[in-house]
Amino acid sequence: MTSPAKIAAPPDGSAFFAGKPLGEIEWLGTARVRALEKFGITTVLDLLTHLPHRHEDRRQFDSFPRDESPKAVCVCGIVAKTNSRWFGGGRKMFDVVLQEENGHALSGTLICRWFNAHYVQKKIAVGQKLIIYGKPKRVGKQIVIDHPEFEEVDPEADGQQGEHQTPHLRRITPIHPATAGISARDLRGWIYRLLAETSSLAASVLLGPLPAGLATMRHFDALRAMHFPESWETLNAAKRELILGEFFEMQLVIASRRAEATAQPGQAHCGSGALLTAFQGQLPFPLTGAQSRVIDEIRHDLAASRPMNRMLHGDVGSGKTVVALSAMLLAVEAGAQAALMAPTQILAEQHYLNFKRWLEPLGVRIALRTGSRQEESAPLPLFGGSSEDAAPQIIVGTHALLYGEEFERLGLAVIDEQHKFGVLQRAALLRGAVAPDVLVMTATPIPRTLTMTLYGDLDVSMLDELPAGRGKIVTAARDESKLPDAVAFIKKHLDVGRQAYVVYPLIDESAKTEAKAAAAEFEKWQKQFAPHRCELLHGRVAPEEKDAIMERFRRNESQVLIATTVIEVGIDVANANIMLIENAERFGLAQLHQLRGRIGRGSHKSYCILIHAADTPEGLEKMQTMEATSNGFEIAEADLRLRGPGDLLGTAQSGLPPLKIGDPIADADLMRLARQAATELFATDPELAAPENRRFRSLLAARRQVTLAT
Ligand code: ADP
Ligand code: MG
Repeated sequence: MTSPAKIAAPPDGSAFFAGKPLGEIEWLGTARVRALEKFGITTVLDLLTHLPHRHEDRRQFDSFPRDESPKAVCVCGIVAKTNSRWFGGGRKMFDVVLQEENGHALSGTLICRWFNAHYVQKKIAVGQKLIIYGKPKRVGKQIVIDHPEFEEVDPEADGQQGEHQTPHLRRITPIHPATAGISARDLRGWIYRLLAETSSLAASVLLGPLPAGLATMRHFDALRAMHFPESWETLNAAKRELILGEFFEMQLVIASRRAEATAQPGQAHCGSGALLTAFQGQLPFPLTGAQSRVIDEIRHDLAASRPMNRMLHGDVGSGKTVVALSAMLLAVEAGAQAALMAPTQILAEQHYLNFKRWLEPLGVRIALRTGSRQEESAPLPLFGGSSEDAAPQIIVGTHALLYGEEFERLGLAVIDEQHKFGVLQRAALLRGAVAPDVLVMTATPIPRTLTMTLYGDLDVSMLDELPAGRGKIVTAARDESKLPDAVAFIKKHLDVGRQAYVVYPLIDESAKTEAKAAAAEFEKWQKQFAPHRCELLHGRVAPEEKDAIMERFRRNESQVLIATTVIEVGIDVANANIMLIENAERFGLAQLHQLRGRIGRGSHKSYCILIHAADTPEGLEKMQTMEATSNGFEIAEADLRLRGPGDLLGTAQSGLPPLKIGDPIADADLMRLARQAATELFATDPELAAPENRRFRSLLAARRQVTLAT
């Protein structure tokens, strides 16, 4: 086996060049190196992979615009006049008259304006040649571009007559994201020079090129073309290559996780189903088709000796708990222990109470383990074996379970609302000699196209059907002036016996301010809803008190629960059919959807009132989306549109490499290719799957490919 230490640098030593700190590049100089560092760019490779966000075709500039256009233009002209003047409120406007250079004759003008941009004024002077990029609009008789991007053409460096090559002109020119003190022109020049000085092999090793079957060009050539393409076609091909590279690396990590999980020896944990049948027989409702299907999928996994590694994906209210419990009962019947982990104390408690109610009559021993409470049920000894055998069969808890409890025969671990946990904790479960079966459940609406990225290391089951007989949820977004109407509306429903949630955002999470803000909130609402009883729930309420509050709300001893997002996940009280969310614009779409999932659980029609002060197009779209749909997947798509995939992927939290240029939605077909290639690599080369190779795995893969290619 190749040990990591044996990964050799290419013979010319240039791998060291690509990985070099920029400080060692003499011609850059300390000041620039420091500025780049502030920008998060510290090595040669960082700079080489600082990719342009767009390109300008400077082989042929656009002619000066004669009218406004929604499309940006890129023109080149001579500064004929500059002017700066004050206008209302101490603000300053700087404008430049640019003249078109048509052969040798001057024709056509364009006005460029900057407001309160002192630095621009210092940079532009009459007689300069400027490249301008921006959207033209008509102001009176003139054509104007406000705040265009601009760059001076330096006649010395850029070679007026085109007698020498320059990175800046007469080509499809990259525009790199710039920052204070570093212009796009600076970056372009430095990257141009570095590309010339870096050996292709060196960069390829560090970038991790693609398996031969996927690659259409040498990886380093793709990087070069991404900055300085010869044609738009080359640019597209280069982009594809780099995206594939990025996706491939991500899929390698995912494939390695999968390989690691399945390489562990497992055990079959599946009973005959007698206990399951007894349980389902006493449920007050029939299972949905989706629930039955998913239980079958899980049963299949449990009966196999390889460890189950499955994700159950179902929108809020789709009935994941019953599925989880069914799986647990199959494991229990096979003589194993089953554990369920919930992200919050409140939720663990709720699961425990439900399980106790459903399972005590069947003689199953259940235990609750949270940071502050340990409790054991005392069932009739029917199925549970002899009563001396006191070990609990089902253990419900918070994540404290992962670290504290020594399970004797843990056969199945269920992780509820897995997005609240992250990856590391899931891994902690898998440390024993025999891996338990693992089922992770989530309601985070993730577009289907993303599941193979985020959860590519898991098998996925979908609960894509809500139980019948659910009341409809009507959602209304209203501005703050409508709050009194909303309160009156809620009171009407309280008067006929319903319950309500009021959710307010947490502005400051320090203990002191939270308690104070909460007290103020409480005062305000208690007055409005009197004589109905309000209770207050937030992160700083002591755990036992939280349980007591939830219990009273469940029993309808209190009618309004005033809460922060601690109620976001899992809470299930069917009689509560109204939710009012204050400052709704401060929550994300996914979070609003989760919150709203607390209602619409009984047969009554439910109402979600979003009181908001949204004043941006995004904020308003968020509110409209909530009003228009309660379908988790539609919400997820809208969320993706509004926030981009970065947030949703949460790569930092998921432990996956960040994506610099690929978009897992737009480039889903490339993701599929990358996934296939990564899976194949692991199938044909199990050595790569060894855990000790973890950090070097992608490098190893890369090196193999380089060896093949050279
Ligand atoms: P989630 O998927 O959000 O975790 P839960 O498991 O909390 O959903 O289920 C929501 C509610 O629906 C619970 O009160 C549960 O008892 C009920 N439920 C589950 N399955 C069904 C079903 N097949 N028919 C009717 N109600 C169901
Ligand atoms: Mg749930």
